[in-house]
Amino acid sequence: MSTQHEAGIATTRRVVILGAGYAGLSAAIQLASRVRRSENVQVTLVNAQEHFTERLRLHMTATGQRLAELSIPELLEGTGARFVRGWVTAVDADAKTVRIDDEYVLPYDTLVYGLGGVADTATVQGVEDHAYTLNSAQDAEVLADRLARLGRGTVVVAGSGLTGIESAAEIAERHPELNVVLLGRREPGAAMNPKAKAYLRSALERLGVQVRSGVEVAKVLPDTVELTGGESVPADVVLWTSGTRVSPLAAAAGLAVDEHGRIVTDATLRSVSHPEVYAVGDAAAIRQGYGVMHGTCQGGMPTGVHAAMSIVRALKGKQPKPFRFGYYHTPVSLGRHDAVVQFTHPDDSPRRVYLTGRVAARYKETVTASPWPTWGRMKKMPASGAFWPRGGRFTQVRVAR
Ligand SMILES: Cc1cc2nc3c(=O)[nH]c(=O)nc-3n(C[C@H](O)[C@H](O)[C@H](O)COP(=O)(O)OP(=O)(O)OC[C@H]3O[C@@H](n4cnc5c(N)ncnc54)[C@H](O)[C@@H]3O)c2cc1C
Repeated sequence: MSTQHEAGIATTRRVVILGAGYAGLSAAIQLASRVRRSENVQVTLVNAQEHFTERLRLHMTATGQRLAELSIPELLEGTGARFVRGWVTAVDADAKTVRIDDEYVLPYDTLVYGLGGVADTATVQGVEDHAYTLNSAQDAEVLADRLARLGRGTVVVAGSGLTGIESAAEIAERHPELNVVLLGRREPGAAMNPKAKAYLRSALERLGVQVRSGVEVAKVLPDTVELTGGESVPADVVLWTSGTRVSPLAAAAGLAVDEHGRIVTDATLRSVSHPEVYAVGDAAAIRQGYGVMHGTCQGGMPTGVHAAMSIVRALKGKQPKPFRFGYYHTPVSLGRHDAVVQFTHPDDSPRRVYLTGRVAARYKETVTASPWPTWGRMKKMPASGAFWPRGGRFTQVRVAR
């Protein structure tokens, strides 16, 4: 005899969300809050750590600053979502299962893949062996320990993108006894308007950061960085912030990925090869009218919310809607009391408006601190998560797939 309970289990939709970063947590809270009264949907969030990693603050961790401990299970309380702490070791896209810690298997009907991305340590010789990274909270803590014990010496920050700039500034401010050298192909703030870029440059100078742009690192050795062309830059510590690498799990599972290993999505954020898989955040290659989105928290959170809303629509038998997003700012901290906030067009090109100094530092801090209260609000009122800039005419043209 088939009981109602058994029938209920048979029809339960199992949604598994991989990665509790900015995108995965947004997806989990949005979805669980919307389906919490339904017994037919089970939401499971999987993450390596029980505490949320505030990637936006890892340069602070790397300079010994203590951050708040943000508990993921506590945040999920009341939503009905289940939290599984573990390392995802494989995805079987045919069997629709996820392997955790190489020990047990979690089946899914719908998968949300949000495992993020890290700096690419594989392309330049010596980086894996001799450079520090901000790829995880633990990596940042290891660097903090090294810097605290260094005394005097030179720290080379490789990569003049936003993470490199923020890290060089933070290290120079917290460790004035150290020489800090920022190396990169492009000048810092290359994508900003000329005045914002000039401010950024003078702030780095004020902090004593030596900027070397137009250079490429060929090799990292225990006490030196070798540049293409043969020049050697002495370095007691090298922090590597360059390039982006994602988990190889998606490609290994046979999901369609781009040249960086990110899951290629359709307009609604579903994998083009496996429509039961949604990809969000830095792990996804999401095309908009202006091009493929680059990894940010400002874009990552909306992708998670949108994936959740699409899953809810699909559960109701409706078609998911296309995802649209336009950038609106590039906030860059320059230590704890200074920053530059470049406001942008939806395609990320700079507007004339920008903020600097303490006002910009306060703006940056407000933005950095905003995800946790945003999720708290979303738990009570899911619709509050659905407001983000859609990009206007910049995102109206979609590439057909
Ligand atoms: C120092 C620094 C400053 C930054 N500043 C800004 C900024 O000012 N503004 C901005 O928009 N962006 C900024 N970024 C970029 C931003 O942090 C990322 O774009 C954002 O974190 C992407 O979110 P995500 O959810 O895709 O991935 P993540 O936040 O990286 O989350 C991925 C999660 O998946 C987990 N995970 C990964 N692999 C596995 C596995 N195999 N098994 C289990 N769990 C796994 C990770 O532990 C992590 O919890 C900054 C990044 C850094 C490093």
